[in-house]
Amino acid sequence: MEKRLRLAPSPTGLFHIGTARTALFNWLYAQKIQGKFLIRIEDTDFLRSKSEYTKNILEGLTWLGLNWDEEPVKQSDRILTHKKFIKKLLESGAAYRCFTTEDEISELREEQKKKGLPPKHDNRHRNLSKDEIEKFISQGRTSVIRFKIDEKEQIKWLDQVRGEITWQGKDLGGDLVLSRRAIGYEIGEPLYNLAVVVDDNFMKITHVIRGEDHISNTAKQILLYQALDFKLPTFSHTPLILNSEGKKLSKRDCVTSIDEFRDMGYLPEALANYMAFLGWSPKSAESEILSLDEISKIFDLSDINKAGAKFSWEKLNWINSQYIKNMESVKLSEIIKEYWDNMSWEPPSQEWAIKLTNLIKDSMTLLKDAIDQSKPFFLLPSIHEEGKDFLKNEVSKLSLKLILNYLIKQDALKLNKEKAKEIINDISKNHNIKKAILMKSLRVAFFGSLSGPDLIQSWELFSESKSDISRIKRCLP
Ligand code: GLU
Repeated sequence: MEKRLRLAPSPTGLFHIGTARTALFNWLYAQKIQGKFLIRIEDTDFLRSKSEYTKNILEGLTWLGLNWDEEPVKQSDRILTHKKFIKKLLESGAAYRCFTTEDEISELREEQKKKGLPPKHDNRHRNLSKDEIEKFISQGRTSVIRFKIDEKEQIKWLDQVRGEITWQGKDLGGDLVLSRRAIGYEIGEPLYNLAVVVDDNFMKITHVIRGEDHISNTAKQILLYQALDFKLPTFSHTPLILNSEGKKLSKRDCVTSIDEFRDMGYLPEALANYMAFLGWSPKSAESEILSLDEISKIFDLSDINKAGAKFSWEKLNWINSQYIKNMESVKLSEIIKEYWDNMSWEPPSQEWAIKLTNLIKDSMTLLKDAIDQSKPFFLLPSIHEEGKDFLKNEVSKLSLKLILNYLIKQDALKLNKEKAKEIINDISKNHNIKKAILMKSLRVAFFGSLSGPDLIQSWELFSESKSDISRIKRCLP
């Protein structure tokens, strides 16, 4: 039988890291078992769902490399089918009309609160006669459809992550509401639990992997599967993503949407790699830097942790820096070029851009670090205090003079690394100046300070952009 998994996001907000991680686990497992990964957009909350959020979610999935099979299903297109199944449950007696008003429900809640009990409907309209129903309708009362839940029922399933789970029917909040309020004998808009079961069955989903906040829904849904005589999928509940204080990661933790991670300069491969380890600990993995294909080969639901997964910026940053470091410089230079373009910085040649990328990539954590790291190669930095102090020394000034003369004598010399080293060696030998002094003086001229990237490689770049001579000259009287 074909194995089919799905992500069922509600488009009521931007693509959130929690949803992205659920998508990733579904995708990885689908690859592992050679199944299909499908999308269902759960857009039946008409007030909060927006098409721009659907677009954002699909674009985010694509950016992360989580491609899906088949055209995404839109839940709102299937409302008539959902209603058809509600009708079936009504007709079989598994569900009934409940006319409890909002005020009556509030009253019930108040009483329960006073007694310290959790909210639970008292199923008061379970056994209304036809006449009683007729009477309520003629009074203009609206009704929801409720699915009967047997208080004594024990719902059990073998969760692929958490092992056997048992839920008591009495702990499910009373009979389950399947649809919103409607007038007369109408059936109102179908609600989440009913729609999910009908759609998962329609999409022939064999494995449901979703967040642990859905565990009690699973218990309710299993009862619906049974009442509708649908084949049960397997269920897996993944741990929540927590902030550093151990609370559920939320908007208050600054960054939660996938867009924001992209804009901050994370590479999609790095973010996906990091997310895979958020709540998953493989028995054997040689490294934590693994591509999605590599992860999918060793991924197993039994290696998903039960405990919440703490989000760590430190680890994400480390993984991102590893991806930047290991990326082919040609490819990375193309990505970095967009950042330079935004600053209106024009590299003199493609070769120069690749060399600069190569020079700075080891000190980058985020892509946007390319701006700070490459700034002194495009803009002339001012001389900082420590640089000024260093140049007060006569030997430093002499060093720059000698280097400048050498360069001028060579007439528009385009340096390579070997030539640069030769110049330093020659001057050091002929004038008895320490190489370290020569290089530090040059560093101040180029970068305005005593720190910066490899000097010889930098010199090669400054030479090609024809700014080495002018940078030295500005330090001399
Ligand atoms: N729309 C639900 C959510 O976003 C889907 C839950 C499920 O996977 O069934 O939480």
